[in-house]
Amino acid sequence: MNPLLSIIVPVKDEEEAIPPFVARMTRVLDALHDPDGRPIGWEILFVDDGSTDMTMAAILTAHDADARIGALSLSRNFGKEAALSAGLDNARGQVVVPIDVDMQDPPEVIGEMIAKWREGYEVVYGVRRNRMTDSLPKRLTADLYYRAHNWLSMDKIPEHAGDFRLLDRKVVEVIKRMPERNRFMKGLFAWSGFRQTAVDYDRVERAVGTTKFNYWKLWTLAIDGITSASTAPLRVWSYIGAVIALIALVYAVFIGLRTIIYGADVAGYPSLMVATLFLGGVQLLSLGVLGEYVGRILVETKHRPIYIIRQRVGCPEEDGQA
Ligand code: UDP
Ligand code: MG
Repeated sequence: MNPLLSIIVPVKDEEEAIPPFVARMTRVLDALHDPDGRPIGWEILFVDDGSTDMTMAAILTAHDADARIGALSLSRNFGKEAALSAGLDNARGQVVVPIDVDMQDPPEVIGEMIAKWREGYEVVYGVRRNRMTDSLPKRLTADLYYRAHNWLSMDKIPEHAGDFRLLDRKVVEVIKRMPERNRFMKGLFAWSGFRQTAVDYDRVERAVGTTKFNYWKLWTLAIDGITSASTAPLRVWSYIGAVIALIALVYAVFIGLRTIIYGADVAGYPSLMVATLFLGGVQLLSLGVLGEYVGRILVETKHRPIYIIRQRVGCPEEDGQA
């Protein structure tokens, strides 16, 4: 029989984080009960995202000790968003909770999430009450990103909510049917709708290991998020072009009148330079934005799989699915 609750955990080079995570998570899950007081069924599904250390060995040890712990091992590093997709595709629970292995998001909150789910919510996302454990630049850039995203996109993503959330089976099925290769998960969740609510919690320091995200990766993720959720960056160039053309027209009339009244003079090298460089810059910028979207169209049209599974541990293949 399928378990009620699936925990999905993307991991990349986290060998020393696995044993403490399994110990604490198992303790929390075993303490959960349904309204009749019976313990609930659960599974933990690790998605090994191309780790190059002993992560898989650590997961196998955990699986041998408790068969409810399983894993998918991807053929290489596909990135956290793809790893989450692999987890969602293979989770069997009635509710699914993605969580990071570093325990920055406390597993104890899952009990609260399930209580909200029993009240009828299909999505219960965790909101970080404070982000004091993140560095100031990270907080500022995160803030800026949420603002930019929500300003540009119709589907608002809740601020300071990570991937730690509870998803009802209905939502999981919707996400599974989304065919795009660009898996910006927060955007997909926001788009799917449903009754959503929040629980807040304090985000703590990473227990062991180091963060797998540097600023360049976060920047790439931000671009992925915005380009997949909004076409505003494409359309804005029509308006910028129109405004510049209008200014040029007014300026042309001004020069024409001035020449008629005062005669022609050949000076104007600096203004010529400024106009040329400015327009060149604007054109290159708009071309770059266009290129971002065209590149994404190329990726989507290839229809390659989002991830490739190399090995399954305690996680049976669903029929008709790779
Ligand atoms: N992760 C992953 N694939 C990657 C990068 C990270 O599966 O390419 C996992 C990582 O092992 C961890 C989670 O994603 O379980 C969150 O990573 P991290 O804690 O480094 O991110 P941060 O909390 O610093 O944003
Ligand atoms: Mg972390």
